[in-house]
Amino acid sequence: MAFEGLTGKLQAALKKLTGKGKLSEKDVKEAMREVRLALLEADVNFVVVKDLVKKITERAVGQEIMQSLTPGQQVIKIVNEELTALMGGTQSKVNMAPNPPTVIMMVGLQGSGKTTTAGKLAGYFKKQGKNPLLVACDIYRPAAIKQLQVVGQKVGVPVFERGQKDPVQIASEALEFAKKEQRDIVIIDTAGRLHINEELMEELSRLKSQVKPHEILLVADAMTGQDAVNVAKSFDERLGLDGVILTKLDGDTRGGAALSIKAVTGKPIKFIGTGEKLEDLEPFHPDRMASRILG
Ligand code: GDP
Repeated sequence: MAFEGLTGKLQAALKKLTGKGKLSEKDVKEAMREVRLALLEADVNFVVVKDLVKKITERAVGQEIMQSLTPGQQVIKIVNEELTALMGGTQSKVNMAPNPPTVIMMVGLQGSGKTTTAGKLAGYFKKQGKNPLLVACDIYRPAAIKQLQVVGQKVGVPVFERGQKDPVQIASEALEFAKKEQRDIVIIDTAGRLHINEELMEELSRLKSQVKPHEILLVADAMTGQDAVNVAKSFDERLGLDGVILTKLDGDTRGGAALSIKAVTGKPIKFIGTGEKLEDLEPFHPDRMASRILG
């Protein structure tokens, strides 16, 4: 992933501070004006940018002098800490059921990478020594069932499917099957649509009430920027999310979704998709992301 534009502009803004032995309030404010512009150009939500810059400015202007760092380096440290906090502070993990199986419901719009990511996640857990099961509940496109079978085969995880049957029924049967076969993680691939609509939300709510998932993960496409943030907001309001998997970060040159989703929805990014291959999934670490953004 390469937020080159953002990294370059932030570095340019902060570089003006690092050469100085002492910083005036004016120096800090000027640098923060550039930081603000860089974030807005990266498509970060403007309320988020405003709050962030305010926090950084307050801390930077009122900073205590530290012996070990120059004032400029101290500002960079503050920016790093605030970016980390913005993305959730620490790593958020998937909720695991006290009594297996853990049920994970994957939701998202068509094209976001939901089916691929369901496969990636199954492979991720398998590598950790778990025994996952994938469930095909995206019944409207026969190609989606086939696609899940293909990714399941690639990562060596079985796929439970019952064709075009009612998804709620399929999910119930899958849970029975998982218990019998001692599968400890059940990953349900649900229907996607091109846009959020009532019918989709009804179906997902019905599915949620029936299977009582321990974790509902939204799969969202980082390249759609603030649209991804709005999608997350809508899904969270209707369904209640536990977290987000942000896909296609490898193709995202701006970073607006990564930096806004947690602040806008309150729901953390738990994993990121960094490529088309099934191993291209990483747990999300806010501190590492902040450091990468600052370059
Ligand atoms: P669905 O309609 O939401 O189930 O989406 P798919 O799983 O079919 O994925 C749509 C496209 O996005 C496919 O071509 C995937 O290979 C691609 N894709 C998914 N995740 C990533 C990712 O993290 N990076 C890249 N570059 N492509 C991805």
